[in-house]
Amino acid sequence: MYFNTKFALGELSAYTPGYRIAHKYTPLYYIHLMKICVIGTGYVGLVDGTCFAETGNTVVCVDSNKAKIDALLCGQIPIYEPGLDALVGKNVTKNRLSFTTDAKTAIQNAEICFISVGTPPGEDGSADLQYVLSAAKTIGEHLNGYKVIVDKSTVPVGTADKVREIIAGLTKQPFDVVSNPEFLKEGAAVEDFLKPDRIVIGTESDRAYALMEKLYAPFVRIGAPIIRMTTRSAEMTKYAANAMLATRISFMNDLANLCELVEADIDMVRKGLGSDSRIGKRFLFPGIGYGGSCFPKDVKAIIRTAQENAYSLELLKAVEAVNEKQKHTLVEKIKRHYGSKLSGKKFAVWGLAFKPQTDDIREAPAIVIIKELLQAGAQISASDPEALAETKKVFGNKIEYQPDNYAALDGADALLILTEWREYREPDFARIKSALKAPLIFDGRNIYSTALMREQGFTYYSIGRRKV
Ligand code: NAD
Repeated sequence: MYFNTKFALGELSAYTPGYRIAHKYTPLYYIHLMKICVIGTGYVGLVDGTCFAETGNTVVCVDSNKAKIDALLCGQIPIYEPGLDALVGKNVTKNRLSFTTDAKTAIQNAEICFISVGTPPGEDGSADLQYVLSAAKTIGEHLNGYKVIVDKSTVPVGTADKVREIIAGLTKQPFDVVSNPEFLKEGAAVEDFLKPDRIVIGTESDRAYALMEKLYAPFVRIGAPIIRMTTRSAEMTKYAANAMLATRISFMNDLANLCELVEADIDMVRKGLGSDSRIGKRFLFPGIGYGGSCFPKDVKAIIRTAQENAYSLELLKAVEAVNEKQKHTLVEKIKRHYGSKLSGKKFAVWGLAFKPQTDDIREAPAIVIIKELLQAGAQISASDPEALAETKKVFGNKIEYQPDNYAALDGADALLILTEWREYREPDFARIKSALKAPLIFDGRNIYSTALMREQGFTYYSIGRRKV
């Protein structure tokens, strides 16, 4: 048999996808263990590769960034993702997970090659496919037998066809291309990958589908569906999911702004709205706009795909416009409070990452807000449990960085809450008050109740609720 099929003992029993083989003394489990190559070892590639190794497969993660691979070889995890550190260490120790810049060897030893490189937005909003197509070229140059090439990156409809074309132009070896979009959330990526809501597998090949189904079987034992579809539908599904989530956020932000004008409270509205089972409670929190490496670029990219097909996605254009506006609402409140005179004011910022539990600041609203305040002549003293190092790469010595969030408050005119980290939810309010020049909070994430703020004697601005 071509594939590397092994027998494994109890260690993997929790993930057993196959059938049990009768054994006189110990139950043995038949597991189809595979050799996998993951090209692109970023937020997605590193998590996916590690989780595939966790189920017993042999995984080689490849990256063209030598510094990143060198760090991983020294046991340093280049990103903050809860639980990842321990899982990487465990699988490296067990010789199931390794890291390299040598794409050729990794590809040639693998049965399945994942492409999980970045797809940043191009100038016109379309997804920049240069990294995906370059990975496809590398695969085509080194193919040495049948392999399944899996596109994990978020890519516009038709990209699997392009990948297929590039590889076919470089080799006579047989291969199949699969679109298998990734739905994990940064901050809960390991958990999401190990226990997915669903797996989408887009392929026109039964052979490739059978292999992918086996690969994912350990992750869907609880009952999550593996949904098979065409590559084009799979590519579209990923954009549809992100566009829907972004729409919910912009919808709530737009409503929140109206709530302020008519003296309604968005928090109460959210509860009333989300209790409808057709609507659901999740993703209904207003704030200072969505950010991160996915929603902004994916909304832009699907709008662009529509334009290229002479169609206009009006709803998503509005979602994007509302989001752009929302990133400025907190600064507008600050300017209104001070009568536009921000020069010489100092603001303590709690939270820089685009959301809690990550060090990722790509497209984070905090970056837009800090830039605007600096431009208005204000000073910033910033704190974040994980994102200080990344933020330093953007602002250098233009702002102060405080690992201790209370130290950031010293002598500041007000506190700005820009990411809803858990540790900010129940702070020492007396300490905040005594460190600030005035008891003033601008909360972009609505993490305190207005009643509590009134009780604690703060002037408190939030989103979609009355100022107290
Ligand atoms: P990332 O920027 O963190 O990582 C991409 C990695 O690919 C980098 O380390 C880069 O050096 C490497 N790379 C680029 N070209 C390469 C090549 N030719 N050979 C080897 N390595 C190469 O990106 P990410 O956040 O992991 O996202 C990857 C893809 O997954 C994107 O399409 C993204 O939209 C999608 N996605 C991301 C998330 C997320 O939460 N970050 C979730 C779902 C899907």
